[in-house]
Amino acid sequence: MELSVRSIGRTAVVVAVYFASAMAAVMTTRFGGGVACVWIATAVLGAALVTSPRRDWVMLCVGCGLAGVVATASFGLGLRAALPLGLLNVVEAVTGAVLLRWLERRHQAGDPVGRLAILVFATAVVAPVIGATVGAAVAAWVGSGGYWINWVRWYAGHSLGTLTFMPVFAMFLSGNVRRTVSRASRRQIAESAALLMLVVLTTLAVFLQKTLPLLFVPILPVILATFRLGRLGAALSIVCVAGIGGVLTLKGFGPVNLVGGDIVSRVHLFQFYLAATVMTALPVAADLARRDRLYARLRDSEARYRLLTDNSTDIVMSLHVDGTVRYASPSITQLGGYAPDDVIGRNAIDLVLESDRLAVSAAHRAAVATPGVTQIVEFRARMADGSLRWFEAHSRGVADESGAAIGIVNAARDVSHRKQLEAELTSAALTDPLTGLANRRRFDLRLAEIHRAEQGGCLAIFDIDHFKAVNDRHGHQAGDDVLRTFATIARGCVRDGDLIARLGGEEFGIVLPGASVDQARLVCERLRATIADTAFALGEKRTRITVSAGIASLVGDSDAVLKAADAALYQAKRAGRNRLRLAA
Ligand code: GH3
Ligand code: MG
Ligand code: MG
Repeated sequence: MELSVRSIGRTAVVVAVYFASAMAAVMTTRFGGGVACVWIATAVLGAALVTSPRRDWVMLCVGCGLAGVVATASFGLGLRAALPLGLLNVVEAVTGAVLLRWLERRHQAGDPVGRLAILVFATAVVAPVIGATVGAAVAAWVGSGGYWINWVRWYAGHSLGTLTFMPVFAMFLSGNVRRTVSRASRRQIAESAALLMLVVLTTLAVFLQKTLPLLFVPILPVILATFRLGRLGAALSIVCVAGIGGVLTLKGFGPVNLVGGDIVSRVHLFQFYLAATVMTALPVAADLARRDRLYARLRDSEARYRLLTDNSTDIVMSLHVDGTVRYASPSITQLGGYAPDDVIGRNAIDLVLESDRLAVSAAHRAAVATPGVTQIVEFRARMADGSLRWFEAHSRGVADESGAAIGIVNAARDVSHRKQLEAELTSAALTDPLTGLANRRRFDLRLAEIHRAEQGGCLAIFDIDHFKAVNDRHGHQAGDDVLRTFATIARGCVRDGDLIARLGGEEFGIVLPGASVDQARLVCERLRATIADTAFALGEKRTRITVSAGIASLVGDSDAVLKAADAALYQAKRAGRNRLRLAA
């Protein structure tokens, strides 16, 4: 019930303003008969319609329709024209409002510039064309002026009247003005009042004289008010210029009257002047509103991401395209021992271990070249205390509107623990657990590597003589000790870069990359002799152990080389053990 009382009150105010503006227009702007040159009433009804629920529309239309009829009948074209014109004005306002709402819904116009375009199209183009087309016919029918003269008057008056006044009425009626004023600080209200006063005084100064062509001057304070106060500032200052300039122009003052001509053409000139002001200020206001929204969204997302990055355990960095650090999240202190300010302004690559810089630079370049694609790279970085840690960084280029990268964001995670586990697993997978030597797999990989690199060298296969007997006599444990001792002695006989592997049981392989047959024989002979000379402590007694070996050159296929070395080993066994044989 409260709502409908409010609706009725609101409607009464709208109808009263509608009646007053219609009366003023028909009384003062029907020069030489015909339709009024200036028409604000449609803006009043249009603004009321677009800001009201549909259930209030009938009340608004009937009220304003009647007000229009009374105004036209009493002060304008008389009773015969009053009914159709009163109705037509309502139809025009409804058409504009319906079209406006429909287009806004259809285009989901949240964008202020798009909304302005829709406002202009619906209420300043389509609706007044319909109104002018029918209205001029009615005027001609009651015998008041020619069709096209009335068409132009109607169209110019309605279109410009609506464009100038509808935004400001709509702001008042939607409660926008009340909300803005109640939210504004004292300083803002003082500034707004001062700016509007400036508009009023400038307009008065310009329109109270008629010797200087200063028509453009009021546009300056209007634009100033628009920049400082936004859409509301634009709308209110336009109303000030329209009201003051309009009344004074009709009274024969102001620069418009410098051009001479009859009052109708002077009023038209003023209207076009007003349209130019409106079409300057409203788009500026719309674009400013769009920017405000953009900044608000930006601030919002900035706050959100800052919350995430500030609390992240990853190190989040924002880099310039050249790699200079712009931002580093606080987690860098905990992880790396740096304060964010220590790294901001430095090149991020400085933190990366020299040998990993190539990979990191490549990922950086890829992120710049294809923004939006995440690049992942692992590297070691130097901490503030000089230690090294492994990181996995996910990087992405940040693009401007044209798609060109303007920076990079990356999140780096400490993966040292994972890297250590990986290294341990890899090493375990390639190591013989009993002796700690390389296993068969690592041995094969090394052979393949040498083959690929065409490095050449030699290969030896050693086998412990009569090992079964060692086990049988002294137990398996003692056998294991012998295997371990062999491994220790073998390690001492080879060069750096040679690889000793336990191939299985009591059989060992030695890879000697780049070694000639003579060099290989020398190394193997030293090993054989050292083993033969070593007294192995097995049980009570010290026992002598001997080994035999087959040596082959690393030429051609690895399998063939292994076979050749095996065959040579067999020869050594056959020849009495404790000796070397070269493959044929
Ligand atoms: P040969 O001089 O002809 O090489 O005689 P051998 O007894 O060494 O040869 P054979 O291949 O018959 O015996 C190898 C023995 O090695 C058999 C097996 O019990 C023993 N053996 C294999 N792996 C291990 C191990 O891991 N530990 C121990 N203690 N013994 C092993
Ligand atoms: Mg053996
Ligand atoms: Mg054997």
